[in-house]
Amino acid sequence: MCVAAGAIGALEELLPEGPEFSPWPALTALALAAIAITVGQGLPRSAFLAFGFVGATVVGVAVGTTRGYSDAAIVYCWPVLWVASFYGTRATAAVVGWVGVVHGAALLALADGAASPDRWVDVVVTVIVAGVVVRVLAARNERLVAQLSTEARVDPLTQLHNRRGFDERLTAETARAMRDQSSLAAAAFDIDHFKRVNDEHGHEVGDRVLQWVAKTLAHATRGADVTARVGGEEFVVLLPGTGIRGAQELAERVRVAVERGGGPVPITISAGVAAQVPRDADHDLVESADRALYRAKHDGRNAVRVADSEPAAR
Ligand code: GH3
Ligand code: MG
Ligand code: MG
Repeated sequence: MCVAAGAIGALEELLPEGPEFSPWPALTALALAAIAITVGQGLPRSAFLAFGFVGATVVGVAVGTTRGYSDAAIVYCWPVLWVASFYGTRATAAVVGWVGVVHGAALLALADGAASPDRWVDVVVTVIVAGVVVRVLAARNERLVAQLSTEARVDPLTQLHNRRGFDERLTAETARAMRDQSSLAAAAFDIDHFKRVNDEHGHEVGDRVLQWVAKTLAHATRGADVTARVGGEEFVVLLPGTGIRGAQELAERVRVAVERGGGPVPITISAGVAAQVPRDADHDLVESADRALYRAKHDGRNAVRVADSEPAAR
């Protein structure tokens, strides 16, 4: 936008029979462009918000220093579009208000006759409309992006985290556990003979069983725990600040609750648990829990096994 504003100045200088105007607004716009291009990467976000207000001021100076009729006021839309696209409703209202102030001052600075109120009203109403339209569109975009970002991390069947959501939380919880030198535990669950449920009762009942298991897991866990469906009938619970005993108790609680029944069809579930104080980001906590789960399956299912330790009570 700054480069385009500078280019307009240069172009109009070359055109024959244009009105007389000051070169300073165009030069200022080019200076802003140079700043943005050379050191823009290092500037805070708020500096680029300031560009919107400086830009509106520069346009006002252009309007106020052009002899005769000028349509430079149309360029007020640019800083308004800029701020409305990236800086929210309050900043947009502020820049629209600033355009009103600047344009009023520019018209008053003009030689007599040029400063009619309708020139002010035209400009201010136009930038209000531009600001409102862009804010509505930008807000809808922001909502859609937030919704997509949530949906990308949630399993639609159970509303638990999916693999992507789980992996992100695992990274975050690992970093926290390393910082606090606290224990991080994982419990991996896999429904026993789930294929049979599908084969004997149909896929729809299978889905309802998955939802019931998800609810059972949600009941058994605490707010800080991260519960995910990471595969077809495989679930993982991440337990921050929990040691191996706590993880084993949780897994056993879930195993017993599932065995007790209450879901669409009777099933059992197997689990493997592991706990570590992670030393680096590349730990194998979930893999350890998975290996323990494999042992639980191997030992006859409907069981909880602890990683690299004695088998837990059945
Ligand atoms: P095991 O005790 O060894 O775990 O046996 P299993 O039958 O549970 O294990 P296996 O991994 O062989 O079968 C998993 C089945 O889960 C196969 C697949 O049809 C079913 N499944 C995977 N995803 C879904 C789903 O979203 N809905 C339903 N209804 N079934 C699913
Ligand atoms: Mg499986
Ligand atoms: Mg299974």
